[in-house]
Amino acid sequence: MKGITVLGATGSIGLNTLDVVARHGGRFRVVALTANTRWERLLEQCRRWRPELAVLREPGGAARLEEALRREGLPTRVATGEAGLVEAAAHPEAHYVMAAIVGGAGLQATLAAARAGKRVLLANKEALVMAGALFMDTVRDAGAELLPIDSEHNAIFQCMPEGFRAGERPAGVEQVLLTASGGPFRTLSPEAMARVTPDQACAHPNWDMGRKISVDSATMMNKGLEIIEARWLFGLSLEQVQVVVHPQSVVHSLVQYTDGSVLAQLGQPDMRTPIAHALAWPERMPSGVAPLDLFRVGRLEFEPPDPERFPCLRLAVEAARRGGNATIGLNAANEVAVAEFLAGRIPFPAIPAIIEEVMAQAPAGDPRTLDEILAADARARSEAAARAAIMAEQRNHA
Ligand code: NDP
Repeated sequence: MKGITVLGATGSIGLNTLDVVARHGGRFRVVALTANTRWERLLEQCRRWRPELAVLREPGGAARLEEALRREGLPTRVATGEAGLVEAAAHPEAHYVMAAIVGGAGLQATLAAARAGKRVLLANKEALVMAGALFMDTVRDAGAELLPIDSEHNAIFQCMPEGFRAGERPAGVEQVLLTASGGPFRTLSPEAMARVTPDQACAHPNWDMGRKISVDSATMMNKGLEIIEARWLFGLSLEQVQVVVHPQSVVHSLVQYTDGSVLAQLGQPDMRTPIAHALAWPERMPSGVAPLDLFRVGRLEFEPPDPERFPCLRLAVEAARRGGNATIGLNAANEVAVAEFLAGRIPFPAIPAIIEEVMAQAPAGDPRTLDEILAADARARSEAAARAAIMAEQRNHA
């Protein structure tokens, strides 16, 4: 029986993870669950899973959760704050840690799981974008296992040579082809994009995801972050990662070998497949996902991305080339800008505009320690917030 901690248990990936775990009763035991503010949803999960530890980052909600658990006579202990998340990640009874907190907020807990030598199921790509070198060094030094959950990276992992481990340089690989759905605005004109609403941006044609990653898909920043993620996971140069727009989201990514072979992983657009793959690896187990019916899919189309209409892709490539402070700035500014867009304060095209301005201010340098990374992240966030405030003001006066 493998113990599992789910960081970000109340989110889209967290719920999918628990759905897969529920299909394999005797195989996994839920040890710890975490959330940010949604304590009622975490309470329901505690009733169902009876974890040893439940963590709510926000202290007010944690107090309410603790009171409700005590009232119902449930055995779960409650912790809060960053320390609580780190405790859940490093819990001695957890063999596996699903890292599914959204954004840079997940960095410290994800790192703690690696430091504790766990099998880390990595959905939190922002952690790798911010702290790739530190994270990969920690995985190696602690002897942790790293399995990608992002559907594209999980697909690439599945197509890698036998025995491949994340962070190694794969033998015989020419390049990887990272597929992108193109998001809800794939064919939209720049004029129409200027008027889109948060709900339109979150209405992804193929995937049902949390709101932040949905907006990232709409701007194609998601693919930009994934380029950086792929470089760390698969030891590749920037030139070895090619983005291919594939609107059907059936081919999840491909690996091209030096002999001309191209291996692809296909499947339904359902995150339970990569989650089940990473939980069972190197074996296989059912995920609850319906079989792929190629006759219903009918056609598979591929087209090049358009960095003019999707400037976030261009900015991410530039950040990947510069590395260090530029990638930290890219991620931080994106998180701030997306939150402002979702709150209705800035228009959609302001997202790349804010990121570009923050990246232009990013000093040269490559922060390597956690403290340096967090300081660079905080600096970039406050610059992005200041720029967003100016843009919101301009919008109010327009
Ligand atoms: P959601 O927004 O659905 O869920 C986020 C989870 O993180 C929730 O449990 C939330 O708690 C928690 N959380 C949010 N902010 C904090 C914080 N400051 N401190 C602690 N916990 C926090 O996100 P997704 O599940 O969509 O995405 C999670 C990660 O997985 C992201 O990095 C995303 O890029 C990646 N990913 C997601 C995919 C998907 O299909 N959804 C696909 C591939 C990758 P609460 O409920 O209390 O707010």
